[in-house]
Amino acid sequence: MESAQASRGKWALSTYCVLPPLRVNVSHLLMPVLVFVFLLFFQLEAQASDADQNCGLPNNPEIFQSGTQEELLVWTLEKDLRAQAWSRSRLHEKFINEARTKTNTDQTALLQRQRSFYRGTKEEIWFDRILNGSFGRISPLGCLDGLLFERFLQESAPGSVGEFQAFLLERAEPQQWRVYFQPLALVLDFRNQIAPKRASQQIPQRLRSDLKAGWKMRLHLHNHPFLFLDGQTDIAGTVIPSANDRAYAQKLRAEYGLEEFWITNGIDTFQAQTKELFTEWK
Ligand SMILES: [Zn+2]
Repeated sequence: MESAQASRGKWALSTYCVLPPLRVNVSHLLMPVLVFVFLLFFQLEAQASDADQNCGLPNNPEIFQSGTQEELLVWTLEKDLRAQAWSRSRLHEKFINEARTKTNTDQTALLQRQRSFYRGTKEEIWFDRILNGSFGRISPLGCLDGLLFERFLQESAPGSVGEFQAFLLERAEPQQWRVYFQPLALVLDFRNQIAPKRASQQIPQRLRSDLKAGWKMRLHLHNHPFLFLDGQTDIAGTVIPSANDRAYAQKLRAEYGLEEFWITNGIDTFQAQTKELFTEWK
């Protein structure tokens, strides 16, 4: 964006300089303006395609699957996807538009709505902290969470409800990043209860092997789906860590040194340092 503005600045300056003062003919202005619009358009197009190229996963992940366990996909990358520009696919736009036809998808509104279902419980304080901004940060999706959420959408049957989980690892020499992705760690069962599928045993085995080889566990990401069942009960779609999530993060931190815990609903993502999840709020 900076370069587009810089380029626009140059054009404006040269256009101004070549025109004789006080004898401006509108027809003389037309060509520079058209040239400027033409160049600006192609520069923005080039920037968009650069962004798309930098934010992507290779087509050849390692795939691990055994028995009835969910498959595990692993990519090893030469770039940090957290630093890349992000633009949504049509499939992702469709998901967001459908959610917006059913509810107000503003994350504050969703948290306030869900908080009412936890009134009088110990979870209230966590809702208050996330709502007043003293716990974690919430922002629109970036490249890494966006790509993984879209991959999850591609793997999900239309209208189904499920969750994925992912890990990001990093090592220093050579500097590389590794993404673990398990598409459907949880599914909605026949009683409309979220039930864990059999967790892939590949994950702990591979994690231990990678950490031994010098990789660090930067973050864990999973999604929280919307539950549009009858419209009256808790429709979820919030990005607040549940008690189970906090316990899971604590385990991952103790066993693997997990640094950050992320949750996305496909529209917004929550990010927190793992130590933030263990504070006992008084
Ligand atoms: Zn969760």
